[in-house]
Amino acid sequence: MRLEEKIKQGAELIHQSRRMAAFTGAGHSTTSGIPDFRSPDSGLWEKHDPMLVASIWAFRLNPKNFYDWIRPMVDTLRNAEPNPAHDALAELEQLGHLQVVITQNIDDLHQRAGSRRVLELHGHLREATCVRCYKKVSVDPAVEQRIRNGQVPRCECGGVMKPDVILFGEQLPIRVLNQAMDEARRCDLILVAGSSLEVTPAADIPFLAVDSGAKAIMVNLEPTAFDSRADVVIHGDVAEILPRLVETVSAMDGR
Ligand SMILES: [Zn+2]
Repeated sequence: MRLEEKIKQGAELIHQSRRMAAFTGAGHSTTSGIPDFRSPDSGLWEKHDPMLVASIWAFRLNPKNFYDWIRPMVDTLRNAEPNPAHDALAELEQLGHLQVVITQNIDDLHQRAGSRRVLELHGHLREATCVRCYKKVSVDPAVEQRIRNGQVPRCECGGVMKPDVILFGEQLPIRVLNQAMDEARRCDLILVAGSSLEVTPAADIPFLAVDSGAKAIMVNLEPTAFDSRADVVIHGDVAEILPRLVETVSAMDGR
């Protein structure tokens, strides 16, 4: 089927949907210059074994290794801008078509694009928590500067501060996960955008949605195990496809 036809079909599903969820992953932000943290091909792991720097065990054993590894990422994340795929989802929400974004990303770009309901399955870098007394602080420019200077941020109690991102070996935040599962069961359409759905349990969410009766649109560069479950499958760049979907939906709304 031609791309134009698939976009029309996808837009028709969005137009008819009464409750829609979007599920996004690393592929959603690659156009914004953010490498895929968990992908072996990202280049991030060429010099580091993920289990030795980005697991909860490694963090507790040697937080300095973790901060040395994440230091170059601080500026990458701060300088990244939302791309047309983020803008498209924010617009879909404004048009009243999209009720929630469920994301595996930690980069804040959905919120910065204007999406208001975002469930972050893998946490975020806006706050950090003391591993000893569980006090929470916001990761402000002062904290970021300490990380840039090679320091390990510490709490006033002396404990190490851990950013609120989910490291390897950590459970997903249970309240967020429960909300996401609830949304998956309730929606009648799920749009998976820029995720190869390889990281469980997050990747189970779209499957839960279709198992509960939702239709599905899949937009991803590469084929995935979810393709056979989706009603519309588009292999392409989300930053190119999503704006076209939204444009087509807008035209349908106005007709
Ligand atoms: Zn503390």
